[in-house]
Amino acid sequence: MSIFNFHYVTIAEPRQSFFMELERLFNRVCADPKCPFSESAAWWWSYKPFQPLPHEPVIWLLESAGDSLIKKVYGDQPGKAGLTKVRGNKGNISEIYLDHRANQGATAQAKMAFHELMHNKLQKGDELHTESTGLGRERFELRPFGDDLMFDDIRLMAPVLDKPVRQYAGSYS
Ligand SMILES: [Zn+2]
Repeated sequence: MSIFNFHYVTIAEPRQSFFMELERLFNRVCADPKCPFSESAAWWWSYKPFQPLPHEPVIWLLESAGDSLIKKVYGDQPGKAGLTKVRGNKGNISEIYLDHRANQGATAQAKMAFHELMHNKLQKGDELHTESTGLGRERFELRPFGDDLMFDDIRLMAPVLDKPVRQYAGSYS
C-alpha cells in the first residue's frame, strides 16, 4: 500500500472539491494493476511546493493566462485553458487558467489539471493529443472540459506515476 502524492499551488483558488475530483481521477489510475501505487493524495501549497519527491508532479492554478508562470520562467506564450512546459532546463511546469470557459466547476478544473499532468508525467507536447485517449486529448472548445478519463489514459499513466520527472522548484513571483 503506497500513496501517489501530487501537488497543487494556488495562486488562484480552485473550486472547493477540486482536489477530491483530481484524487478521484488518479485513484482510477492507481486501480490499474500496472500502477505501483494503491491510491493518490493531493498536497496543497500557497506559493511553491515543499520538496516534492522526484516522481511527484506539480500543477499551478492561476487566475488567467496573463499570470502564466511558464511565460515568467521560460518566456513562452501561455496556452488557452492550460499549458505544460516539458524538458525545459528549469524543470517541467504545468498550469491551468481558472477564468477559461473550459475550467468552470471543480470537475472541469480537475480534468484540465489531469490533462496537463499527463503532458508532464509523459514528457509529451502536442503529440499527446493524437493518442486515442479521453483526457489526453485537447478539446478546449468544449464548455466545460467535457471529455472523460478512458482506459487509454489509464494505460499511459499507470506505468509512469513512479518515474522521476524534474519539476520547476522555484516559487511564484
Ligand atoms: Zn494538451
